[in-house]
Amino acid sequence: MESKHTKIITTPLLFTPGPTPSPEFIRNAMAIPTLHHRTPEFESIFSTARARLLKMLEMPEVLMLASSGTGAMEAAIANFSTKKILTINSGKFGERFGAIGRALGREVVEIINEWDTPVSVDSILQNLDSNVECVCFQICESAGGLSHPYKEIAKALKERSPHTFVIADAITAMGVERLDVSHIDVLIGGSQKAFMLPPGLAILGLSSYSVKHIESNSCGYYFNLGKELKNQRKNTTAYTAPTSIIIGLKAYFDMLESTGFNMDDIYHYTAKVATATRKSLESLGLKIYPKTPSNSMSVVIAEYAKDVAKILKNDFKINLAGGQDRLKDRIFRINHMGYIPLHEISFVLNAIELALDKLSIRKFDSSANRTFFESLI
Ligand SMILES: *Cc1c(COP(=O)(O)O)cnc(C)c1O
Repeated sequence: MESKHTKIITTPLLFTPGPTPSPEFIRNAMAIPTLHHRTPEFESIFSTARARLLKMLEMPEVLMLASSGTGAMEAAIANFSTKKILTINSGKFGERFGAIGRALGREVVEIINEWDTPVSVDSILQNLDSNVECVCFQICESAGGLSHPYKEIAKALKERSPHTFVIADAITAMGVERLDVSHIDVLIGGSQKAFMLPPGLAILGLSSYSVKHIESNSCGYYFNLGKELKNQRKNTTAYTAPTSIIIGLKAYFDMLESTGFNMDDIYHYTAKVATATRKSLESLGLKIYPKTPSNSMSVVIAEYAKDVAKILKNDFKINLAGGQDRLKDRIFRINHMGYIPLHEISFVLNAIELALDKLSIRKFDSSANRTFFESLI
């Protein structure tokens, strides 16, 4: 029997596409004694975080809400529709938009696709009629790591129907890639993905068209976006703000500024690591699941996906994400959001190659790391 002394000593690695690990500088920043939210001290932190978000998103307004990402999805449907919405369902999160719409009593028209297949612009236009008040879709559908053609969708929608609100769930796209928001009215983000913060803060970027709407038509109580906007323009919130997460958000932007990096550097790094990871996985004969992969995560489909994830967890303490529903036990997902040090992703790829060897699928020959590093150069 194996003695416990032969076990590898390594810190557990969280490699799920949300929540992502919080780096030490963020955890330290959040560890200060509790600040009251109605103080000049906190308002100054809020103001800085808000200004940096506005700059990052390149949108005229932004709101921060104390909720997970789903709260912002609900707030968007509640405030920008009254009767009918169109939703794109290519996975769990697209399905959620439809479920929220029905829970709020909206008529929901849903375009359902396979989880590896991006929605076509034509199918959206075919399902659009003059009663549809908003169209809701994911920029990256995290269920399968699928990227939808969001720029083309948003542009075609606004050309055909300028009054329709374009609501984009960018929870696994914000902080991953530079987003073209020219035709997007509501852009939704969440703290626990690329921002590397704890869960509990949702972000909504707003176009001038959507700002005008909520200034006069807002509804609901906790998620009343008009009321929030009035407060947040004065650097405060309608209800108690998630102060520590906002302090962490400011620390995220401060770190970028103090190290001389900017968001484009993050986007460039993430894209490079994602591309190199996919090449590495393919060099092992593994199949990337989505037809149009997002750079936020790499998703592999294999009949032995569950066994690979199990070996990574037990032998290397690496926590990958599996699949849900129809993809249960059929895929594994590797996170690229936030800042992933090269030695960590390299360790993960090496462990996957070793797992394939252990499962007698493929002999280990260091291809995974060789391909990864060759692709990075
Ligand atoms: C994580 C995620 C969400 C939000 O989930 P919460 O658990 O409510 O934060 C929504 N959409 C996508 C695409 C996601 O990846």
